[in-house]
Amino acid sequence: MTATIINGKELAHEIRGSMKEEVSQLIMNEGLTPHLTVIIVGDNPASKSYVRGKQKASDETGISSDVIELPSSVTEEKLLQMIQELNNDHEVHGILVQLPLPDHIREENVIVTIDPDKDVDGFHPINIGRMMTGEDTFFPCTPYGIITMLKSKDIQIEGKHAVVIGRSNIVGKPVGQLLLNENATVTYCHSRTENLKEHTTRADIVIAAIGKPNVITTDYVKQGAAVIDVGINRLEDGSLTGDVDFDTVKQKASYLTPVPKGVGPMTITMLLKNTIKAAKGLSKQ
Ligand code: NDP
Repeated sequence: MTATIINGKELAHEIRGSMKEEVSQLIMNEGLTPHLTVIIVGDNPASKSYVRGKQKASDETGISSDVIELPSSVTEEKLLQMIQELNNDHEVHGILVQLPLPDHIREENVIVTIDPDKDVDGFHPINIGRMMTGEDTFFPCTPYGIITMLKSKDIQIEGKHAVVIGRSNIVGKPVGQLLLNENATVTYCHSRTENLKEHTTRADIVIAAIGKPNVITTDYVKQGAAVIDVGINRLEDGSLTGDVDFDTVKQKASYLTPVPKGVGPMTITMLLKNTIKAAKGLSKQ
């Protein structure tokens, strides 16, 4: 068997095409331009590159955006005050604070300060709670992108056994919850899991969100499983690779996502989707 490759870049392009249409209708019919404000603290080159990617994608879709750059010395108090100002600004629909933050700023304080109705990253505890109780809300972008990829290929989730490797608050935990909401039977694995293979080889759907290159080899995967590779690992030669050993696993899986051009472009696309939703006020319904 050779896996069907789910090309996230192509799917993202397709979805952004229809979002562009939706945004132009919003502007034309309601005079409403969705607006995203991104705050970046410090000079982390990876964060800067992510923020540029988000801005470029916003521009392409007709969503307006601005970036507030703050020095790494900014106090937590000052940052929270800026977020409050954005919460009160009716022209700002979505607020995103690029993580990670410098050590002296408590991430959890920042996340809870963002108005849940502008929380386009979907990290606010209120939105996490809404997701857990099965309400429609802003879903965290990477997990939302993963579900969208599975659905794009009509991969059956309901009744299937999904194994999520990784339990971070931004990927592992929420993707497991979204799969459960779609009626999968979900197993979470992590660094303390004993006999990882025993779990993963029983999975119909494997989500690898580990952050270690090529750990998921064919012996971790059941014949015909759908495998989603979330990992982004930079190798010594500068190239990017996932958590899944792509060349061998593609001989055994039914579906597989590549790295790059897999989950990454979908994450940004879901951010834009959440921004449009925020502009329409849909999270309040
Ligand atoms: P974290 O480091 O926060 O979480 C990694 C998880 O993997 C932890 O739960 C950890 O377990 C688990 N883990 C580590 N080693 C093993 C192992 N050998 N066996 C089983 N589980 C293990 O990472 P993130 O969730 O933030 O990100 C995961 C990967 O996804 C990274 O490569 C990141 O760059 C990428 N990523 C990609 C995105 C995209 O858009 N494509 C977006 C976000 C992240 P424990 O909890 O016990 O420590």
